[in-house]
Parts: sequence; C-alpha cells; structure tokens
Amino acid sequence: MGNAAGGGPRVLLRQLRETLAEPLGSQDRLNKIVDLIADNMRADVCSFYVLRDDSALELFATHGLKPEAVHMTTLRLGEGLVGLIAAEAEPLSLLDATAHPAFAYRPETGEDPFNSFLGVPVLRSGQTLGVLVVQNSERRAYGEDETEAMLTTATILAEMLSASEFESLIKPGSDIDLRRPRMLEVVSFGEGIALGHVVLHDPRVVVMNFVADDTDEEKARLEKAIRTMRMSIDDMFKRGDMQLSSDHRDILESYRMFAHDRGWVRRIEEAIDNGLTAEAATERVQNDTRARMLRQADPYIRDRLHDLDDLANRLLRVLTGNGKVGATELPDNAVVVARNMGPADLLEYDRTKLRAIVLEDGAATAHVAIVARSLGLVAVGQADSIASICETGDDIIVDGTLGVVYLRPTSEIEASYADKVKLSAKRRAHFAELRDKPSITKDGVEVTLLHNSGLVADLHALEETGAAGVGLFRTELQFMIASKLPRLSEQIDLYREAIRIAGDKPVVFRLLDIGGDKVVPYLRSMAEENPAMGWRSLRLALDRPGLLRTQVRALLQAADGRPLKILVPMVTEVAEFRQARQVIKKEWERLKRTGAPVPEKIELGSMVEVPSLLFELDHLMPEVDFVSIGSNDLVQFLTATDRANPRVARNYDPIALPRLRALRLIVDSAARYNVPVTMCGELAGRPIEALALLSIGMTRLSMGASSIGPIKEMILSLEIEPIRTAVAAALSEGADGGSIRDLLVEWAARQNLPI
Ligand code: PEP
Ligand code: MG
Repeated sequence: MGNAAGGGPRVLLRQLRETLAEPLGSQDRLNKIVDLIADNMRADVCSFYVLRDDSALELFATHGLKPEAVHMTTLRLGEGLVGLIAAEAEPLSLLDATAHPAFAYRPETGEDPFNSFLGVPVLRSGQTLGVLVVQNSERRAYGEDETEAMLTTATILAEMLSASEFESLIKPGSDIDLRRPRMLEVVSFGEGIALGHVVLHDPRVVVMNFVADDTDEEKARLEKAIRTMRMSIDDMFKRGDMQLSSDHRDILESYRMFAHDRGWVRRIEEAIDNGLTAEAATERVQNDTRARMLRQADPYIRDRLHDLDDLANRLLRVLTGNGKVGATELPDNAVVVARNMGPADLLEYDRTKLRAIVLEDGAATAHVAIVARSLGLVAVGQADSIASICETGDDIIVDGTLGVVYLRPTSEIEASYADKVKLSAKRRAHFAELRDKPSITKDGVEVTLLHNSGLVADLHALEETGAAGVGLFRTELQFMIASKLPRLSEQIDLYREAIRIAGDKPVVFRLLDIGGDKVVPYLRSMAEENPAMGWRSLRLALDRPGLLRTQVRALLQAADGRPLKILVPMVTEVAEFRQARQVIKKEWERLKRTGAPVPEKIELGSMVEVPSLLFELDHLMPEVDFVSIGSNDLVQFLTATDRANPRVARNYDPIALPRLRALRLIVDSAARYNVPVTMCGELAGRPIEALALLSIGMTRLSMGASSIGPIKEMILSLEIEPIRTAVAAALSEGADGGSIRDLLVEWAARQNLPI
C-alpha cells in the first residue's frame, strides 16, 4: 500500500482512535485494530493474546494467522515466545523466531512461514494483561522505534481491557487475569476480620485522553508539568516538610534525582513522539517502572523504583489536575490500601466507614499501626505490592488474626469468611460477658487492665471492655490530626471530654510525645539525621516551654479540681523529670492564684523507655508517683532497631532474655520503692508477651481496647506462680540458648491457656 501502509505510530494512533469511536461489536473492533497495526507496521501477522485468570494466554484476534485459531489457541504463562514475554513483561524481537529455544509451534494457527517476530507485553500498573505480536515471513530486524510503537499501541489495548471493552469475548467461567483473586500473606497489626472494598490511599490517576492531537502541544504540557513538579519538590525541601523523618528525606532526595533525570523525561517525550498525550506517555513509561518493580527482588532497587513510580503519579496529577479521593467520600466498609501512611493520614479518614488498613510496608510498633489499633481497626502490613495490584472498589477480605489478605476473593472464600465473622461476633460477645469479671488469676493474683487511648473516638470502648481506666492517653494524637497548633481552649475541651467519658475511672495523660515518626507538620525544625533519637518529646517540650506550659495549663483546668495523673515521656535523665515537675508546679501555683479550682491531687509519673534511665532507677523511683514502661521505644533503643522498620524490627524478640532482664530490673526497682509500674507498650496486648510480663511480676497492663478481652480471658485461666518460678530460673541461670518464648508457649499449651 506504499505510503498508506505504515505512516508511523502517530498515524496508527489516530486510526485507532477513529476505530474506537466507530459503532462496532467487540470482536469486529478488535479485528480492525489488529488489521490496522499489521498494515501500519508492514507486518504479515498481528496477533493479540489476552492473559486469563487461569494463566493461559488466549488468542483474541489475529491478522494473518488462521481465523479459526481465534479463542481456540492458548499458551501457558512462560510457554512459547508469547508466554515468555508475558512472564517477563519485556519486549522480544527476533530475526528467526523458530530458532529461539522457547519457540512453541501451534499447527492450528498456520504460523509456519513466519520467521521474524516482535512481541510486547500489554501492561497495566506493571501487570501483564496480554501480549501483542507482529510477524513477517521475510527476515526482518525490527528496530527500537518499532518496539516503541508497539508498546504505545499496547498502552491503549491495556486501557480497553481494563475498561472491560472485551467483556463479551471472554468465555463463560473464565476471566481476564487482571481480575484474578489473590491471596497475600501479611503481618498482623490489628486483630479481627474485615470484609469490604478497596480504597487506594494514593489513587491511580485515570488517564482519559490517550491520543494526541498535537505532539508539540503535548510536549509543551509535559515540560510545564515537570517544571511545576520540580518546583513543588524544591518547595517541600525548603519548607522542611519532611524534617522529622530521615526516611522521608531520602524519598524526597530520590524524587529530586529522578525529576531531573533526563533519561526518564526523554522516554516520556519519545512516547509523545509516537502520538500519545503527555499523561498517556507518562503512564506508558510508568508501566515499565511498575513491571520492573513487581519483579525486582533487591529491596533497595525496589524502593527506588517505588519512588520513581510515586513521582510518575505526581506528574500525572499535575497533568490531569486529579487530586486524591476526599476522605469523606469513603464507601461503607472501606479498606484503605497504601504503600505506607502516617498516623495523621489515617486519622483523616471517616471512622464510621473505615474497617481496615492494609499497608505494603510498616511494622506493628509504627505509630500508624498503634493508631489503627486504638481505633479498633483491623490492620495488616507487609502486603507485598498490594497497592499495585488492586483497584479502588475491588472486593477485599482482611484477616488480621491469621495475617492473610484475600483480594477479589472467590465466592467460596467470601462465604467461609461470612461464617468467620459470625464466629468472631460470638467471640466478642464472649469477651463482653467477661466485662464485669475481676481479672484475677486462678491463684489469686489481681491484674489491672487499662486502655491505651488518645482520641475521643476510642474512649467509649472503656464501657465495652470494662477496663479499669486509661493507662496511657497519647495527647500528641490531637496535635497530629490538627492542621495547626491546637489552642489552649481546644486542648482543655479534649481533656475535659476524656475525663467526662472515663467517669470514675482514672486517665493517665501523657505530656506531648512529638517527634520520631509522630510528625506534626506545623512544628518545624531543622532536618535531623536520626529523628527517633533527635529533638523530640520531652526534649522538645523543655526547649519550647510555651508549648509545655500551655498543655499543662489545659490539663490543670480540665481537671476542674479533681485528681490528675500526668505522665512524662522520653525521660532520659532524672534531671529532666524534675524540670517537667517544676513547670507543672508553677502552672499549678498560677492557677491557684487565679482562684480557679486546682486538682486536689496530682500524681506525676515517668515513662521508662530510654535505656539510660535503667541505670538511674534508684534516683528516679523516690521522685515519682508511678512509672510506665514504653516497650516500643525501650526495645527499639536497647536493640538499636528502628521500631518502624520491619526489616530489622522483627529480628529481635522483645521478650528474649536480655530484654526481659531489662524489664525485670525496672519491675524489681519499682517494687523496692513501692511505686506502681504499668506496661503501656504494645507488648502488654499480646498474650504470650503479656504472660512474660506477668511472669516477671508485672500486674498493670495498658493496651489497645481490642486486646482487653483476649488478655483477660488468658488471665482468668492462668495459674501464675509456677510460671513465675520457671521464668525466674531461666532469667537467673543465664541460659542463653533457651528461649523464654518457647518456654511460655509450651507452658501455655500444657495449661490449655486460650492463647
Ligand atoms: C512506647 O514507646 O512503648 C510507648 C508506649 O510510647 P509510644 O509508642 O507512643 O512511643
Ligand atoms: Mg514511646
């Protein structure tokens, strides 16, 4: 056809657009598309294979092979050249296809005479949806331009596939792979089961317009968008948005690097040259990144690919003007899926609709996990690549008890989970029955069970669980939700409400514990290399006495003359505790001078969560009214493992001998000075860990509301004395080989403890 044949990718895309607008049936449209591609590429054959949910690649349309092979010929993933391309998500170009070791001959297609072969994966979000192939009987070396043109065309086919354009061509009983059910093993952060619908925390931008009218105009749009994006990244640096977390700074650094990477930008420009709009070109290049990311085993490279992927999302947002889904638009039973998110992000979602969160990263002691638990959400982490393989609206089941996620579950799985939910409702009812029973072991040791809290939303659970009070009220959560510093009156309102809801039960208000991963964007400072060990918590409070004074003032006023318990976080040296006490004393005197009611009694406690304080306990204990152990930070600092980094955080058992010895040191010292000691770290809410704590003499445990029932049930069936003796022996004998965990697990099994 001379010049009419060929004409380059831009002509092809325009023709495709016209075909998409024509009133054709699905198969006719697809046939016309492969005809157009063959014609444009001067190929004898053009075939389109679709990956089905049973991992077979089915021939959906062909120009040049025998028509009767359509919907008949299939190849398995990894089988033949088409299967190879699908499995590796990489293009393949061959002068002589039959000589390739993976070549698989299908007689029904009549492909014998075709030697040269060019195949590209049809990708969406990095997942293979199908394969597009051209073949020629003459020996022909396909150039890079031709591969690029095929990939550009494949982007459009991928969109059509995911928009269910070919729904009617799918045989009954099978489906395209994109919608395949998936099961993922995950790590549990918050127990329970949730059946719901995916809401992507960073929703993919939907590209509507694929084919460019004017390539120069598209390039100008791209250039402008890249400039805007670079400026916004520079701004973030300048504003120091990420100053409190070195992780975030790293990400920003790599954003900046990629945003100025000519290679990346050039590849997008090339896709525009081939006729795509700026946003479609960005998505086309992003597809390659995602495909590499999903197949990359090296965690470092994978992280960088994640960053590049995020950057592409940013660029897409600038180009399309698409923002995030508003938190208010959540569907019922929403399950938020994210690579990672901070506690403040989580708190922005509508609590009445949110059932669960699923993170690709994260660790159980990260604050987002703590907040999720305190909100009673089902929460899991380390769900490999989940944000890339699901779509907003997908059905999902999150089993936070077993640590499994079912994405697009089959009806059988759904039915069995519906039963499980009924069962867990029974379990909840059983725990509710325990509510008014005193938590006393079989041999008469009383254990005080308390809540960790921080929001009005989670205080109401006190009524349901029958806990003895709030052992830890994390006041920083109010600061993390707010967009600006909460005023004195707002702080008073929250504390008053907390005291009102708790009624007769005591609430231990912890002074602001900002910093580390508790990012409060409006309280900026210099960037820090190690924010967890930086200017945070009490250090920040003592350096900014205005902040501390306001909070103490709010607490004293909220008490309205009643007794008040205040807990000082991150005490590294006793001297700091004294300084905090001084501030409280001054505020108390000031309030008294105004004639307003002052608390009839203030009990002041110290968190023990910095290892150094373990060697100053004899000075600390006489000065405090109570102590509270923060195992999350204490274990982080004792083992030098970032609590929010799952790669290292799980390497060291928090109840292994060295850590348990450290905890016992505190318990013994508190006993000598007759000071009440509470555990308020996450250890308290896990049955085996709680058993370890009880066995070293702790009797006050503060935990997320959902853990109270299971821990109480365990206590009620427990005879504590024998295990205390066994653990004491293990601790003093210094048996370094024997694991305390194994000892406790075996013992719990022998005693038939409900663990
Ligand atoms: C802890 O460190 O264990 C603790 C209870 O405090 P947070 O988790 O808020 O740092
Ligand atoms: Mg802490």
